[in-house]
Amino acid sequence: MKYVGAHVSAAGGLANAAVRAAEIGATAFALFTKNQRQWRAAPLSTDTIDTFKAACEKHHFTPAQILPHDSYLINLGHPVAEALEKSRDAFLDELQRCEQLGLTLLNFHPGSHLLQISEEACLARIAESINIALAQTKGVTAVIENTAGQGSNLGFRFEHLAAIIDGVEDKSRVGVCIDTCHAFAAGYDLRTTESCEQVFAEFERVVGFRYLRGMHLNDAKSQFASRVDRHHSLGEGNIGHTPFRWIMQDARFDGIPLILETVNPDIWAEEIAWLKAQQSEEAAA
Ligand SMILES: [Zn+2]
Ligand SMILES: [Zn+2]
Repeated sequence: MKYVGAHVSAAGGLANAAVRAAEIGATAFALFTKNQRQWRAAPLSTDTIDTFKAACEKHHFTPAQILPHDSYLINLGHPVAEALEKSRDAFLDELQRCEQLGLTLLNFHPGSHLLQISEEACLARIAESINIALAQTKGVTAVIENTAGQGSNLGFRFEHLAAIIDGVEDKSRVGVCIDTCHAFAAGYDLRTTESCEQVFAEFERVVGFRYLRGMHLNDAKSQFASRVDRHHSLGEGNIGHTPFRWIMQDARFDGIPLILETVNPDIWAEEIAWLKAQQSEEAAA
C-alpha cells in the first residue's frame, strides 16, 4: 500500500492539515506542528490535540501516514554550546508535541557544522542530540532527512546518515527520509530507471531500507550535483518523471509517507492522482 500526499498548511489549526490533505485526495501528509520560523510556540491545548486526532480519524489518516517536519531553525550539530542547547531544547519540544498528538515520526534536517568543527564531530553531535531527545520521549521515531548539501549542511551523503544512525543508541527509533531533489542535487542521479536502481542499491548497502521511514518526492530546479536546494513540480524540473513512476512501482516504498514538497500547491491534487496511477502495470509500459 502506497501512502501519497503533500506537505500541507496547518494555518488556522493543526486539524486543518488533515482536512486539506483529504481535499487533494492524499493518503498521507506532512505538516509543521508549530510555526517553523520561530523558536517558541504555545503548548498544545487539549482542544487542539483532540480536534487534530478527530480530523485524522475522520479522514482515515493513521500515524504511519503522517510525517511532521520540525522547525528550520534547529541545528542539532551546532558547533557552539549555547546554540546547541537551544536547538536541543527546541527539538525535544518538537518530539513532545508529536507525542501529544499521537504521531510516531518526526522529520528533520540533520545539522550544519558552520565551518567551525569537522564533519565527523558534527555528525557525532547530531547523534548525541538525538540520543538526548529520545531518552526523554516515547513512541516517536527521529527521521533524518538527506540534504542537498547547501552551505555547511551535512546529510548529503548516505554515509552521513549511516554515521548518525551508528551513533544513536535506540536503533528502533531512528530512521531516514530521502528527498529526491536533495539526493539529485547532492550527486545521486535519478534520471533513468538504471540510475534509480543503482542509487537505491547504494542506499541499501550504506543505510538500509529497514531505516526508510518516508520519502519527499520533488523534482529539481537545481542542476545535478549542484548542492543547491530548489524544488520543482514533478516532471517539470531536471529530474523528470522517471524516478517517481519507478518509486510508485517498487514495494520497498510501501507503507511510508511519500510526500510532495513541490512548488505549486494548486496542482498537488493532479500530482497525487498521477502518482497513484503509476502503480498500475499499464503505466510501466
Ligand atoms: Zn524535503
Ligand atoms: Zn529542500
